[in-house]
Amino acid sequence: MIPERATAALTIDLDALVGNWRKLRARMAPERASGIDCAAVLKADAYGTGARQALPALVEAGCRTFFVAQVDEALTLLDLLPESVRIFVLSGPPPGGAAEMVAHGVIPVLNSPDQIATWGEACSKVGRRLPCALHVDTGMTRLGLSWRETQTLIHDRSPLAAMEPVLLMSHLACADEPNHPLNAQQLATFQQVSRAFPQLPASLANSSGLFLDPAFRFELGRPGIALYGGNPTAGAPNPMGQVVRLQGKILQIRQIDTPCPVGYGATHHAGAGRRLATVGVGYADGYPRAAGNRSMGRLGGWPVPLVGRVSMDLITFDVTDAPERLAHPGGWIELIGPGHGVDDLADECDAVGYEILTRLGSRYPRTYLFNGGTQSSAGQGNAP
Ligand SMILES: *Cc1c(COP(=O)(O)O)cnc(C)c1O
Repeated sequence: MIPERATAALTIDLDALVGNWRKLRARMAPERASGIDCAAVLKADAYGTGARQALPALVEAGCRTFFVAQVDEALTLLDLLPESVRIFVLSGPPPGGAAEMVAHGVIPVLNSPDQIATWGEACSKVGRRLPCALHVDTGMTRLGLSWRETQTLIHDRSPLAAMEPVLLMSHLACADEPNHPLNAQQLATFQQVSRAFPQLPASLANSSGLFLDPAFRFELGRPGIALYGGNPTAGAPNPMGQVVRLQGKILQIRQIDTPCPVGYGATHHAGAGRRLATVGVGYADGYPRAAGNRSMGRLGGWPVPLVGRVSMDLITFDVTDAPERLAHPGGWIELIGPGHGVDDLADECDAVGYEILTRLGSRYPRTYLFNGGTQSSAGQGNAP
């Protein structure tokens, strides 16, 4: 399945992804209360894992609401969307883009009075009250209506007359720090706004938000990172299943006779008797350059330290402590996987799991595991 010549292999476990969604949905609605649901955030190509693969798997599992960041992301997924499934665009209608959203039934998240006006005009033009979400900023100061704009809208709702709001949402800035005081402040503000729109389902929690007090959950969960195996509970063991596995192939083994420097900048010195494995993955594959001299791989379960800098296409591991029979050209070293997950790699390089995932490369072949079977795509696996 993986071509023999491949120097790396990325495996995406869609069964684990679906399992993660089910686990998060269970947090939203332990008793399957009606009107309570869990969406999936598919922006940035499903955090680098492949939105065109993730979406059908989640639809099959019963997910009915998706979020992407940009209109074009939604447009590339339209052919996979069943009638009853909604896709929201978090950045709202871009200048000149509302008509296309109308034409394709893509639902905007309206983030400003201007966007509300734009959507109102687009609805009037087609004579239909089309669905939209209202995004209020409760303390993140990024997208969404400001406090003042929100109050103005609460007191004069005429800008909404031409459209059909179907969701009220806000976004948490510090959900991954459960004790941060901003969480409670944002919750109180959002509760206040949602009382002014009692007929609208409300959505506040991202992945980490679903692990805060149940009051943060409202009617719709909006997890992203936790679906893809990132840990939504900073500091506690990861409750999510591992979705991503990245393996690099050993291209060459070098037995060191005399001490010598390794890699660009000669930042590592290998002593006599060490055995080094050069692997065909580099920063051009999205592997973080900051991992140089800091990360680990696993060779047949044995931890092996990454030594020297990360090159564009190559990295080097000291495999001296792994059994010699495993360390041979053609062998695979696991860079991300069970026992060394996305967050572990992120921690080693002062990154976050989000960054590691969204940079996953498209040069190497991808294998998707789904319903117990496999599905492969050669490099550029995420191209529609
Ligand atoms: C990205 C995003 C999410 C998902 O956040 P995670 O931390 O990945 O769960 C939810 N809502 C909004 C508005 C976002 O931008």
